[in-house]
Amino acid sequence: MNYDAIVIGAGNGGLIASLTLQKKGKKVLLLESHNTVGGVATSFIRGRFEFEASLHELCGFSNVLQEGEVYKLFKNLDLLDKVKMQDINETFHVISLDNKEEYTMPVGVENFINKMEEYVPNSKESMTSFFQLCEEIEEALQYLNDCHGKVDVNVLKEKYYNFMICASYSLEKVLESLKMPKKAREILSTYWVYLGSPSTEISFVHYASMIYSYVKLHPTISLKKSHELSMAIYEEFLKSNGEAKLLTTVNKIIVEDNEVKGVITSDGKTYYAKIVIANVSPNLVYGKLIEKDKVPKKARQLTNARILGARGICVYLGLNKSPEELGLKNYSYFIYHTLDSKKEFERMKKLKNDNMVGVVINNAVPNASPKGTTILYLTGLLFSDIFSNIANKDNYFELKDAIAQNFIEVFEEATNTNISDAIEEIEVATPLTFARYTNHPDGVIYGYLAKKSDNLLPRMMNKDAEEYIKGLYFAGGFANRLDGYSSTYKSGEMVALEALDKEGGK
Ligand SMILES: Cc1cc2nc3c(=O)[nH]c(=O)nc-3n(C[C@H](O)[C@H](O)[C@H](O)COP(=O)(O)OP(=O)(O)OC[C@H]3O[C@@H](n4cnc5c(N)ncnc54)[C@H](O)[C@@H]3O)c2cc1C
Repeated sequence: MNYDAIVIGAGNGGLIASLTLQKKGKKVLLLESHNTVGGVATSFIRGRFEFEASLHELCGFSNVLQEGEVYKLFKNLDLLDKVKMQDINETFHVISLDNKEEYTMPVGVENFINKMEEYVPNSKESMTSFFQLCEEIEEALQYLNDCHGKVDVNVLKEKYYNFMICASYSLEKVLESLKMPKKAREILSTYWVYLGSPSTEISFVHYASMIYSYVKLHPTISLKKSHELSMAIYEEFLKSNGEAKLLTTVNKIIVEDNEVKGVITSDGKTYYAKIVIANVSPNLVYGKLIEKDKVPKKARQLTNARILGARGICVYLGLNKSPEELGLKNYSYFIYHTLDSKKEFERMKKLKNDNMVGVVINNAVPNASPKGTTILYLTGLLFSDIFSNIANKDNYFELKDAIAQNFIEVFEEATNTNISDAIEEIEVATPLTFARYTNHPDGVIYGYLAKKSDNLLPRMMNKDAEEYIKGLYFAGGFANRLDGYSSTYKSGEMVALEALDKEGGK
């Protein structure tokens, strides 16, 4: 019952943290509530369709260039030969419903700049400066990553001067200062929804790093859904003599004299370790898992001060026609009323807001479903707790149906297609589904909201100050790298190495 480290939750962050520690020779116990691993990085089957639960596109993994932070991480953890990834040959297709505008952006920096020049004449110079800046930011982030918290500010000032200048500004501010035309700024910001905050709030550095990776390295997707990725990490962990218990929920984290001592699980067993990594929200950890009088005041204050990020609604559709028959040419369709992210963010606080991301998985992986069929995902985000205020046990299923119906109609209108007549299977996940599945508050799928003052860099720089209980660490979407596949994987690695450093390991 004694371990070097215990990891609570086998989502992306928990899996990578467990494997990293195990590969460093530590004795790790991974505890997961469900009967399988991956958290939302999983799939499910309805009829003849296997639906991906979450992954639309992975950033930081290039098959072709053999580059990217996730590629390197998988290589270091001996995972590369266990996963099969497919590059996606476009970045995004964005549609503005109100203005009847549509833009399709390619992969490759030069292609991207040239396409933007076609759509927005005179944008080339500022777009070129933007991508040059992206390159410097990538190098600076690599430096920050490599120095494991021991940052030399002089190196930053001398080598990464532009990074330092824009580090505390929002995406919008930096694009304005590059004198980028408004329309180009709006198109370039299409991915804002992936980071869950409008362009006036998202950190420039965070956005630049994400879009640079998508444009330069291509977005990728797992050929066998994200469940393959989760299983590859899990199997490597077991092969390295890691121990895991599925169907085992952690009900309590034992804390004495402000240090973690271990955990108590749903079957009443106690496991001891000096390191506990929580792949769950601080709301759960400080609100339920640790006895009230053992929770440091500052931990409670910080958790309450942070705002919960986006809640998810996802309509999973199995269609009995091919993408060509349906007239769906693109991989991802970002559908907004306008291209003004601030306006759209506000609109997405209401339940009926029409904004969504549609993904046609077969346009990257043709055999993702049986021949002559299509899998289409329509995902919407909510930036308020409106769903739990409206839904109750009497109206829940009606509400789900109404939301799905509206999403399908809006998608059909935006893309001028007929989806309804081809529906063979349909499943709808609401914030309630995600809350039940992940145990995250209000069904949040994006961790805490990124804001100007509480963003990627401030969270990374303050991580030591946020260690309120000795030996207790966080990995995953609620941790300091924020949400997304690449971020949660990296957060798992970062926190494992940090815990080892602090506990005097290697
Ligand atoms: C619909 C959707 C689409 C998305 N699309 C993309 C995309 O295209 N690209 C991208 O990069 N990201 C995307 N994301 C985000 C990405 O999936 C998440 O950021 C990431 O998977 C979250 O990983 P995590 O480490 O936070 O773990 P989670 O997936 O949140 O898993 C947490 C795990 O902890 C377990 N657990 C909870 N409480 C306990 C307990 N008390 N004891 C034991 N176990 C417990 C849960 O069962 C779960 O397995 C999407 C997410 C969703 C939902």
